[in-house]
Amino acid sequence: MHEHAVCWLNGRLVPTGEARISVFDHGLLYGDGVFEGIRFYNRRPFKLAAHLERFLDSARAIALDLPYSRDDLGAAVTETVAAFAGPDGYLRLVATRGEGALGIDPRNCARPSLFVIADRLSMVARESREQGARLIIAATRRLPPDGLDPRIKSLNYLNHILARIEANQAGADEAILLNAAGRVTEGTADNVFVVRHGRLLTPPPVEGALAGITRETVLELALAAGIPVSESALAPYDLYTADECFLTGTGAELIPVAEVDGRRMAACPGPFYRELARRYEEIVRA
Ligand code: PMP
Repeated sequence: MHEHAVCWLNGRLVPTGEARISVFDHGLLYGDGVFEGIRFYNRRPFKLAAHLERFLDSARAIALDLPYSRDDLGAAVTETVAAFAGPDGYLRLVATRGEGALGIDPRNCARPSLFVIADRLSMVARESREQGARLIIAATRRLPPDGLDPRIKSLNYLNHILARIEANQAGADEAILLNAAGRVTEGTADNVFVVRHGRLLTPPPVEGALAGITRETVLELALAAGIPVSESALAPYDLYTADECFLTGTGAELIPVAEVDGRRMAACPGPFYRELARRYEEIVRA
């Protein structure tokens, strides 16, 4: 399954079959850790500085003292990409609280675990890229920001996994999570955009979405393309009646949405999607 994968663990490259994390690691026992997903194109990690900044901020926010500098992390990423067999791939950078006692107290853990995996990623079927993804709005609400700040990219994804299970059971491709007030936040591993009345809209992160790096890139590309954008609160109604809808994420890149809860988008892939996807494809390889 992972015959192409390469792994760097706690300071060195190790054969993936020998890359082991303890059953006492609090990342496993409690989801106590942070991560990043980074794509590389032509052996160049895309937006590496932004990913490392978010990673270090996530670690600080959970009081995880990493014994690695930003440069050390960059070097680990570079070493992993260099060892990978192809020019394009996906990196997973993970730091956990490390091995400790069974109790939850992080003071039980002596040293964080850090690893980087490079692998191929086929997250999205070619079919949904071409024909558009089918979405449902999940009954599972996103965790409120005062429970876990969505800017922390932590290992706690159970909430999103429950939403994804709802999508699977409904025969859909992806789920949108609402916040406690019933407004749109994001997908299970991606941000969401709609086009309404000639304007590109996406919920502001304060609604409860991750401040996605692809989201930020798409906002910049839209500005450069002269597309009017606003970050505004969205209700399910705004998705149901949109001209276009698409998802963004490092793994997802840009995915057009065909329907939400059975309501068809006016266009899929629509003209805004096509223009932004073309520009995105251009800059990741620039
Ligand atoms: N929201 C969630 C919950 C995610 O896991 C991701 C993927 N990292 C995104 C949004 C998209 O963020 P990015 O564009 O930085 O990959």
